[in-house]
Amino acid sequence: MTVTQFGVELRSVAKTYRSGPEPVVGLDRVSLDFPVGTFTAIMGPSGSGKSTLLRAAAGLEAIDSGTVLVGGTELGGLGDRELTVLRREKIGFVFQSFNLLPSLTAAQNVALPLKLSGRRPKRSEVLAALESVGLADRARHRPGELSGGQQQRVAIARALISRPAVVLADEPTGALDTKSGREVLGLLRALADDGDRAVVMVTHDPVAASYADRVVFLTDGRLAGSLEAPTAEQVAARMTSLEAVAC
Ligand code: ADP
Ligand code: MG
Repeated sequence: MTVTQFGVELRSVAKTYRSGPEPVVGLDRVSLDFPVGTFTAIMGPSGSGKSTLLRAAAGLEAIDSGTVLVGGTELGGLGDRELTVLRREKIGFVFQSFNLLPSLTAAQNVALPLKLSGRRPKRSEVLAALESVGLADRARHRPGELSGGQQQRVAIARALISRPAVVLADEPTGALDTKSGREVLGLLRALADDGDRAVVMVTHDPVAASYADRVVFLTDGRLAGSLEAPTAEQVAARMTSLEAVAC
């Protein structure tokens, strides 16, 4: 496997939704770099384009113009089949609602992406992924037998099994209590610190954002500044002023 310093790069990415009566701006020429070894939080008022940005970074959103590179590969140059393979191999996605399959055990959920890629996952590999999120002893449990925080950790293990260049998380702590949320944030922080991947997280929570190296703010699909080594207080103050402008 090639090791790369590239996580995700967006260059002047634009997307307008034209399905309704009026065009709606999703992203307006956004350029951002998410190198491996870094943890970035994306914040902004509701409708500011955060989810669109994550989907564009994952190749899940057809963009109007600009370039998305994942692990150094330009998505626009790929056919459907190649894009699917790249998504499976280079991108791990974590959702607010976990999206685990309820009838499968934790180990089977974690193994699923490799199975979908036509690989036969080794038991040791699956257990190592569960171990890395502190759940080696829950391999045979089904999601319904796990707490919300544990389910999200299984989802993170599933996102890691293909050794992706980037982990994209859309409000991963949104459905968790404070303590479980902090555990998940500590885990995402550690994944970035490993140095092999970029972690990008959308959040509404200034405390969650303070785990990141950098917070990027969006309004109306546009970049509206960033904070390095953010504190929760700084993030909350910036959000208050952005939301005041948005009203
Ligand atoms: P956020 O995640 O910051 O709340 P989104 O990225 O979901 O924002 O949405 C950005 C804008 O694009 C919003 O105005 C939203 O209504 C619009 N939008 C998102 N997805 C679609 C879609 N599939 N069709 C039409 N408009 C959409
Ligand atoms: Mg969203």
